[in-house]
Amino acid sequence: MLESTQQIIHEALTKLGYEDQVYELLKEPMRMLTVRIPVRMDNGEIKVFTGYRAQHNDAVGPTKGGIRFHPEVTEDEVKSLSIWMTLKCGIVNVPYGGGKGGIICDPRNMSFPELERLSRGYVRAISQIVGPTKDIPAPDVFTNSQIMAWMMDEYSRIREFDSPGFITGKPVVLGGSHGRETATAMGVTICIEEAAKRREMNLVGAKIIVQGFGNAGGYLAKFLSDRGAKIIGISDAVGALYDENGLDIEYLLDRRDSFGTVTNLFQNTISNKDLLERECDILIPAAISNQITVENAHNIKAKIVVEAANGPTTMEATKILTERGVLIVPDVLASSGGVTVSYFEWVQNNLGYYWTEEEVLEKLRAKIVDAFNAVIQTASVHKVDTRLAAYMVGVQKTAEASRFRGWI
Ligand code: GLU
Repeated sequence: MLESTQQIIHEALTKLGYEDQVYELLKEPMRMLTVRIPVRMDNGEIKVFTGYRAQHNDAVGPTKGGIRFHPEVTEDEVKSLSIWMTLKCGIVNVPYGGGKGGIICDPRNMSFPELERLSRGYVRAISQIVGPTKDIPAPDVFTNSQIMAWMMDEYSRIREFDSPGFITGKPVVLGGSHGRETATAMGVTICIEEAAKRREMNLVGAKIIVQGFGNAGGYLAKFLSDRGAKIIGISDAVGALYDENGLDIEYLLDRRDSFGTVTNLFQNTISNKDLLERECDILIPAAISNQITVENAHNIKAKIVVEAANGPTTMEATKILTERGVLIVPDVLASSGGVTVSYFEWVQNNLGYYWTEEEVLEKLRAKIVDAFNAVIQTASVHKVDTRLAAYMVGVQKTAEASRFRGWI
């Protein structure tokens, strides 16, 4: 994974005309901390967990990015995702470089008190290198506002002053922002509206398939059906549901478990693979990576593909889809709503003055529309596909800032 992220950065920098030394600086995080976190489990035993925090580059400003709790977290994945965060922050033009954290653990098999002790232990272990003006964590896979609250409390105790700007994605009563919970899905929704405009497609009645029904996929399906679109397919890790007359999203959201699973309650399911190739106007892979490949790219019927997941379409498949005239809204653009509202949360914490949900949404829309237009324009000026264009827009600010600082 790190290698393919490095390739992306290399290609974008080369296309922008930067010398190799810029790539040498940006191909790895400038800082990577590995920590061991002892946690007393409920049965009295001590278990030692491994955690990471990667800071890709802080030329533009403090580093920023989520912390994931997952059994398959690796050092390379965290490094690679910190580079992704640089691209996302660059695209939406927020004053941060990329960061990322992770702990190798399975929160599905841990109690609440165990999760609290692990979260606090992680903050104690990384407290030297993070902070509101250094590196600002946030939620990611299997972490949520409660975990952010424990982490913020632990950091405030260590520093001995209230530090809401240390972390984003907090509950609203602790300085969280309105609209943060749904921000990723709202960012994708705004991208879909812009993409539909470009393709002169009416969202009312448009047939949409959403692969994934977790936090992002679930809200997304709801926002789109609220706008009159017809959600004809959804899926989770177990299987997929498809109905060309439209699915009852409210009902499905109601029955979904806390890990986004709902298809296990139905008999007439299809496979995830099958779902992607069904007839639709807009396809939204919102689950896992490498879903659209050379194998199935020719069979995709959608006119617009919006990547709400990380890396769902391979490079080769991007080429095939682009040649076939499919408009791809790449992951780094489509999934940047979360970090955008995190930035607004941090600004509000620093100001001590809080905005309404309407104000946040209006500001989010402005950022995403600008980012969308920048990517489309870069694609047309440099005659590249939208994916490479997004990476170019994403990396440029960090490269320029590093140059102005005299680092390269
Ligand atoms: N984890 C989210 C992301 O990868 C949010 C990061 C943030 O809000 O800082 O975009």
